[in-house]
Formats: sequence, structure tokens, C-alpha cells
Amino acid sequence: MKYKSTRNKELKLTSAEAIKKGLSDDGGLFVPEQFPRLKKADFAALAEKTYIERAKFILKKFLTDFTDKEISACVEGAYGTGSFGSDKVAPLIKINDSEYILELWHGPTCAFKDMALQILPYFMTTSMKKTGENKTVVVLVATSGDTGKAALEGFKNVDGTNIIVFYPSDGVSDMQKLQMITQEGNNVAAYGIRGNFDDAQNGVKKIFTDDKIIKELDEEGFVFSSANSINWGRLVPQIVYYISAYCDMISGGEIENGEKINICVPTGNFGNILAAYYAKKMGLPVNMFICASNKNDVLTDFIRSGEYDRNREFYQSISPSMDILISSNLERLLFDVSGKDDKKISELMQKLAKDGKYAVTKTMHNRIGKQFWAGCCDDYFTKVRIWKTFAEDGYTPDTHTAVAIDVYKQYVEQTGDMTKTVIASTASPFKFGGSVLSALGVEPYGKNDFEQLDLLKEKSDMDIPKSLRGLKGKKIRFGEVIESADMYGAIKKSLNIDK
Ligand SMILES: *Cc1c(COP(=O)(O)O)cnc(C)c1O
Repeated sequence: MKYKSTRNKELKLTSAEAIKKGLSDDGGLFVPEQFPRLKKADFAALAEKTYIERAKFILKKFLTDFTDKEISACVEGAYGTGSFGSDKVAPLIKINDSEYILELWHGPTCAFKDMALQILPYFMTTSMKKTGENKTVVVLVATSGDTGKAALEGFKNVDGTNIIVFYPSDGVSDMQKLQMITQEGNNVAAYGIRGNFDDAQNGVKKIFTDDKIIKELDEEGFVFSSANSINWGRLVPQIVYYISAYCDMISGGEIENGEKINICVPTGNFGNILAAYYAKKMGLPVNMFICASNKNDVLTDFIRSGEYDRNREFYQSISPSMDILISSNLERLLFDVSGKDDKKISELMQKLAKDGKYAVTKTMHNRIGKQFWAGCCDDYFTKVRIWKTFAEDGYTPDTHTAVAIDVYKQYVEQTGDMTKTVIASTASPFKFGGSVLSALGVEPYGKNDFEQLDLLKEKSDMDIPKSLRGLKGKKIRFGEVIESADMYGAIKKSLNIDK
């Protein structure tokens, strides 16, 4: 299997090359040249297997340049060491006749980013070896919260790598900051930036593309890479859990093999829902994808109208990981529904960069509209939905998951479609405890983060994730806050090359 770019379909890279590079030189994203197809018998066989076995089977079909032994080592390292709590890894919880919650947050940082960022370091180091790269990889991450911590946990103590995270000092939650500044590991660092997320992101981008810095680091034996969600190595492990959820429904007697389901995903950068779409391209029987946004509803408008327009107000919401105006992974869907028209995609993306908007063709819009239904939900209705789900179904969703459940309910009301639906649950409610508590009618103000965890445990009757409880009293290793202009200095210091 070879990989091409959404902006140049003549390209032919191995998966190791695509994972190592992250982004194509033409600015496009890497996509597989075709999708492996699963047969009904494959689903039947996978239904009898564990998550780890399912992952090996599916990943092997995409990473054809990896040996079986390499795939096994990657999968076992990520999912087989107990860091996801149980061998279920991504359990499916039925909360009523039609709604099945796919819990993707049992990893070490309690958000779904772990599903990909626990395995990416293994893909990355294997890819470096396979492509003959013997330098140490320096992974730079600008984060608004969840990605930074998940990347730190994934890359900590991984030989041949260093990970350095920059976050806006006043732009992440207390719990998120505490998660990062207490990070353990011998190859990790985290710095607060005086400024906002854009300052951190721009600083990282500048360093990535600075030829002088790249050369200096090269001479010291280092090479930069990215753990950003556009990397193919982050997308491909996400395909696995949708197929796994379907297999759980077969083995649990919830559906017949071959029966269609719906999939509803709380969406930001469009990575998670795109992975579900790719699962369908492999043969997963899907009736409709339901794309859920918070008040930042650029995707809702796009799916309904065919026009993408980022020229609008940006809102900070209680589901912050979906506060986004440019959904980068949408480019991969556009490539697919355009019939792999790389010229068209380049043109649309240039328009987006220049005018902040573009419109797709009628044919492309029709193809999207047949498979995707979109809706949005503001903070008020997010909280109402948390309360209702708790009261009616006895389940406590986090704020992001609640957006998805709410949009699913809108879908049912408007279409009457009662097809069984998998709803992706992307974070533990304890990670956004303050908002969840107030939605449940428990006043969180004046309580510190750990008191809030206890209150939510009492109210929801769920266990506090060990990794969050364990932050209490942990030693602060990375309290430093720097100017964004000093980021390169901080990198040199962490790599011990600041003589
Ligand atoms: C990143 C994130 C999302 C959005 O996922 P995308 O792949 O960017 O669409 C939703 N919920 C949570 C909790 C996240 O961390």
C-alpha cells in the first residue's frame, strides 16, 4: 500500500515515509491509494477476537511495509501494557435501545487522544528505523490542553525521541496544566508561554520551518517531527475502534452481522469522524454519520450548505477541544468525494488560506449530504443534555460527549431514524468535572479540583480515574513560563545543547 498527497496524487510513499514526514511538501495530507476491503466473514471472525487482535489485523492492511513483528510490537506496546485499564481498551456501553456509548477515554490522560498518541511513538520510531534515519527525533507540540498531555504520556521514555510541549500559560484548565507540569519521564519537557494558543502554535511552526535552526539541530544529531492530528499515524489507529465497536455489537447479540448502524462523533479537527468514514470505506455497514459541533458551528453550516466559511466569531465553550474554526482533516474527505481531484483540492485550500472560505461542487456536496448529517449545540443545551442523560439513562457524559448526544437527539427528532447508533465518547467526565457538576446541580465554585473530583464521584457513582487522582501532591517538574520569542532557547536547554 502506497500513500499519495491530497494535493499531488502522483506521489507514492510508503507508510513509514508518510508517518515520518507528517505533512506532504505540497501542503497536502497523506492518504492511502486505496482502501482494503473487509468481508462479512472478516467481521464475524474479528467479533471473536480481542481489541489487540483486531488492531493488528486492521493496521496490517494499511502499514504493509511494516513486518508482522513490528506491527505486533507497536500494538502490544500501546494497548497491551494495562494503560487502558482493561483489555477492552475501548468499551461500548449500551445506555438505551438505540444509543451505544463508545468510551475512548480509558487511556492515561482520560481523553480519546490517547487512542492514537499511545501508539504513534511506536509507529514513529519504527518508521525512523525503516527509513534509515538514525538521528534523535524531537517532537514539538503546541497545545491547548488535551493533545500536549497525551503526547507527553505517549512519548515519555521512548528511546530515540524527545518531546517538548508548549502551552498558553493562562489558556488551559488547572487540571490540564497540572497534568503537564508534573509529567514524568527522562526525555520530556513542558513550557508555559506568555500568550495564547496561536502564539504557541506560530512559534512552533516558525521553528519547524527555520532552515538555520534545522541545520543547527541536524549537526547535533536531532531532527524535528510532529505529533499533530494530520499525521497518518494518528488517524489509522482510530479506524480500529469503530470496527471494534461493530464487532462488539455482533458478539453481544445487539445486531446481525451486516446490519447498518449510525455513528455520531463530537467533532473539532474532523479526525475522529473521518476515521469512522474510512472504516465505512473498508466495508463497515454505516447508514449515516452524524457530525456534532458546539457553538463553533462551521462544520454544521458546511455540511448543510456546501460552503465552508471560517470568517465568523470564535467562541470559547465548555467543550474546548472542539473550539476550532479550521478542521484540517476535512481536506481528506474532500479529496475522496471529489474523485481524488488533487487540482481541485489545491484550489479550494488556496481559497481557504486567502479568503477564509470556499464552496465545493454540487456533486461533492451531494456525496457528503448522502452520508453526513450535521448539527450543533451551545453550552446551555450541553449542560441540559448532561443532566437529562444522567436522569433518563443513568449515564454521566463529559461536555464533549454531551454535545454528540444532543445532536443525535436532534437527528432522531428530525428524521425519525431509529437505527442503532454508536456515539463516540471522547473524554472522561472527571476531566471537565466543574462543568459536569454544575450541569448536575452541584455547585462546584469555591471547591478545588480534587474536591470536585470527590463530589463528582459521589454524584455519578463512577470511579475517579487513577491518573487524575494521582496528580494530588505530585512534584512540579516544569513550572517555567517563557516568552514565545524564547522557545528555541528552551528547546536547546532541554536537549542539553545550549552551551
Ligand atoms: C480532540 C477532541 C475532540 C475533537 O476530535 P477531532 O478528531 O479533532 O474532531 C473531541 N473531544 C475531545 C475530548 C477531544 O480531546
